[in-house]
Amino acid sequence: VLTKDNNQTENVHLFACKRFLNVAARTPNRMVYGELGRYPLQINCYIRVIKYWFRLLKMDPERLPNQAYHMLRSLDSCGKCNWVSSVRSLLQSVGFGYVWLAQGVTRENCFLREFKQRLTDVFRQDWMAGINSSERFIQYRKFKLVLEPEKYLDSIRQKCFRDALVRLRLGISDINVHKNRYKRNDQLALNNCPFCPEVENEFHLCFRCHMYDDIRPSVMKNVEPHQESIQFARLMSSKDAGTIRKTAWFLFKASELRKRAVDAVGQ
Ligand SMILES: [Zn+2]
Repeated sequence: VLTKDNNQTENVHLFACKRFLNVAARTPNRMVYGELGRYPLQINCYIRVIKYWFRLLKMDPERLPNQAYHMLRSLDSCGKCNWVSSVRSLLQSVGFGYVWLAQGVTRENCFLREFKQRLTDVFRQDWMAGINSSERFIQYRKFKLVLEPEKYLDSIRQKCFRDALVRLRLGISDINVHKNRYKRNDQLALNNCPFCPEVENEFHLCFRCHMYDDIRPSVMKNVEPHQESIQFARLMSSKDAGTIRKTAWFLFKASELRKRAVDAVGQ
C-alpha cells in the first residue's frame, strides 16, 4: 500500500521537494526523499484513517456513522470492496492484522505511535532496497546511508553553491558521465573530460583534472587513486559545515570554469 506511486498528494509533495532542491522533475524520487529525509505524506493520511476508525468503533450504536460502519463491515466480509476493506488491508499489510480482528486496541495513543513507527520503517526499508538495487544509485549509495535530512541543507546559505553540491550528489551535474548516463555503450568516448584524455567522472573532477588545480581545496588535494572512492564518499557524507562549504564552493567554481572553457572552445 505504501509504495503506491500514483498518488496525487504525493505527486504534489514531491513536486514541492524538487522545487526546493532546484532539481528537474525527472530526478529520482528516492534521492529527493533521501536528501531531505522526508517520508510520504500518505503516512499521515493512514494515521488519520486509523484515528477515525477508532472513533467509529467507540461511537454510540444509535449514530448513523457507526451503523454505516457495521454495514460496510458486513459487506467487506462478503467480499465487497469498500472503505472498511482498505482499513483492514492497511492494518494487515503492516503486521497489525490482530488489531483488525480485535476491532480496536485498549491504548490508542500508544498504538498510533507504534503504527506510525511501523509505516516509516516499512518505507525506509523500501527506500533502502531501491537504492541498493538500481544501477542509477551506484555512486549515491556509497555516501547516502541513512534516510535523514542532509547537513548541507542548513549549512550552505548561498543557493548557487548548494545547487552545485546537489547536482553532483544526485548525478545530474554537467560532467560527462552524468550528461551521457543513458547514451549507448559505443558512444562512451563522449564521457571523456573536455580538457584531458580521461573519463570525466566525479573523481576526475574532484581530485584529478588539472583544469581545477588552482581552486581545489585542501580536502581534495593529494588523494591517491585507490583512495578516491573512499575520500569522495567521506566528502559527500561529511557533517562538518566547513568541509561541506568548501566542497560546494569548489563545485560551483569548477562548473563555472568548465562552462566558460567549453564555450570558448565551441566558438
Ligand atoms: Zn580533465
